[in-house]
Amino acid sequence: MTKSNETGWNFDNSYARLPKSFFASVNPTPVCSPKLIILNNQLAASIGLNAQSLQSVDSVAVLAGNKIPEGASPLAQAYAGHQFGHFNRLGDGRAVLLGEQISPQGERFDIQLKGPGRTPYSRGGDGRAALGPMLREYIISEAMHALRIPTTRSLAVVTTGESILRETELPGAILTRVAASHLRVGTFQYVAQWGTVEELRILADYTIERHYPEIKADENRYLSLLREVIKRQAELIAKWQLVGFIHGVMNTDNMTISGETIDYGPCAFMDAYDPATVFSSIDVQGRYSYGNQPYMAGWNLARFAESLIPLLDDNAERAVEIAQKQISEYNHLYHSHWLAGMRAKLGIFNEEKEDEVLINSLLKVMREHRADYTNTFRTLTSEKLDDIDLFGTQEFAQWHKLWLTRLDRQQESKSSSQELMQNSNPAVIPRNHRVEEALEAAVEHGDLSVMEKLLNVLANPYVHSDEHAEYSTVPTSTIPYRTFCGT
Ligand code: AMP
Ligand code: MG
Repeated sequence: MTKSNETGWNFDNSYARLPKSFFASVNPTPVCSPKLIILNNQLAASIGLNAQSLQSVDSVAVLAGNKIPEGASPLAQAYAGHQFGHFNRLGDGRAVLLGEQISPQGERFDIQLKGPGRTPYSRGGDGRAALGPMLREYIISEAMHALRIPTTRSLAVVTTGESILRETELPGAILTRVAASHLRVGTFQYVAQWGTVEELRILADYTIERHYPEIKADENRYLSLLREVIKRQAELIAKWQLVGFIHGVMNTDNMTISGETIDYGPCAFMDAYDPATVFSSIDVQGRYSYGNQPYMAGWNLARFAESLIPLLDDNAERAVEIAQKQISEYNHLYHSHWLAGMRAKLGIFNEEKEDEVLINSLLKVMREHRADYTNTFRTLTSEKLDDIDLFGTQEFAQWHKLWLTRLDRQQESKSSSQELMQNSNPAVIPRNHRVEEALEAAVEHGDLSVMEKLLNVLANPYVHSDEHAEYSTVPTSTIPYRTFCGT
C-alpha cells in the first residue's frame, strides 16, 4: 500500500477507499514549464521528505502536477457549503489531493495541489491559481503556524510557465498544501444532503479514526465527534481573536473538522482595533467581520450538528435536542478560551471575577482611539509606554493604574508576568503592507529576497527583538486595505 523513494514520498490513500460518491479521481493537468519558487525545508523534513531531492526536476514536476509520485492516487473531493449563508454544491474546483503522506513518525498528512487545473467540480472556473495569492497563502499560513495557531501549511509554490486570465493576465502557480485532512463541515453537509445514512456513518467513522481515535469506544461516538469538533473550533477561533486574525470567508466549506485554519483567500490581520473590521471586498454586510467571527463559527457548527442528526439518535426529535444541547456549549467554551488568552496577554495568572471588565475597558479605549491591536499589547509587554498615542490619554492612564493594582494582587512576580505576556503577545504579525511589499517584489520583479526576509521574521513572532521593530510599524496609507476571494 505504501511506497518509498529517494524523496521520501510514502503515500497511503485512505480517502480513495471511501465511497465513490465522495470524490472524483482526476489527475492534475500538466503545465508547460514548472519552476520552483519557494520550498519549505523545515516542513519537508518534518513530514519525512528530503528537501534537497524535492528540488530536482522530477520532484518539481510532481509539485507542478506534471508527474504523479509513486503510490499517489489523485482525486478531487466533493463537498457542499453555506457560502455567505447560501447552500451550494461545491467540491475541489481548483485542487487535487495527491494522497496522504505517512511521516516517519506514522502521522498522516494530506498533500494537496492548489491550482492544478480543472476537475469535475470546477463549474465555470479554470482550476488555476495565480502566483501572488499562492505566495500570500504561503506567507500567512506559515505565520499562523509560528503563532502556534493550528493551520494547514505550505510546502512549496511553483510557477507553471503559463498565464492565467483574471482581470489581467497573471503568472499561474501551484501551491502544495499540507493538512491534517481536508475534511470540512461542508463534506458532512454534502453526504447528509446527497448521500445515504450509511455513507454518512462511513464518513463519520473515517473522521473519528483519523482525528479523534480516542472517542471510538464512546457510547455515542457521533455525539462525541460533535463535542470534540466544537471544542477544537472554540479553541481555534479564540486564538484567531487573540492575535487579530480575520479569516474573511468563514463559509462552512472553509471550516475544517480537524480544527485547522484553512483557506487563505481574503484573510488579513487587523491593524487598529475595531470589531467591525472587514477586509474582504465581497463581505459587504460584514458577516465575517472580526467581531462576528465567534458567532459565525457557532453558526457553522450548528450546520455540522444538523448534518450529524441521523447518526445522533434513532428518534429525530431526540437527536435535535441532543445536538442543540451540545451546540449551546460552544459559546461558553469559546468565551473561556478567549478570557484565558486575554488574561495571559495582560500577564494575569489567577482568576478574578472582575478581570473581564478590566479587559473590556482596555478594548473600549483602544477602539475609541483606534489603537493598533498588536502594538498596544506588544508595548504593554515591553513597558516602554511611549510610542502609542493611546498611552498619553487620561482614559488609558486610569486603566493602567487599575491594571497595575490587579497585577499586584497575584503572587507571581513582575518578571513572570512579563514572560507570560511576551509569550502571549506577538511582536510581529504579517502586516498587510509588508505582505504586499513582499508579493510585489516577488511577482513583479522576480525578487524573492523581500519575502524570505519577511518569512524569517514571522517565524519567531514572540521574540521581542530590536531587529523586528521595522516589521511592527503600522501602515501609513489612509486607503482601507482590501482583499479578494478566489483569485
Ligand atoms: P473558495 O472561495 O476558495 O473557498 O472557493 C469556493 C469554491 O470555488 C470551491 O469549490 C473552489 O474549488 C471553487 N473555485 C475557486 N476558484 C476556482 C477556480 N479558479 N476554478 C475552479 N473552481 C474554483
Ligand atoms: Mg475553500
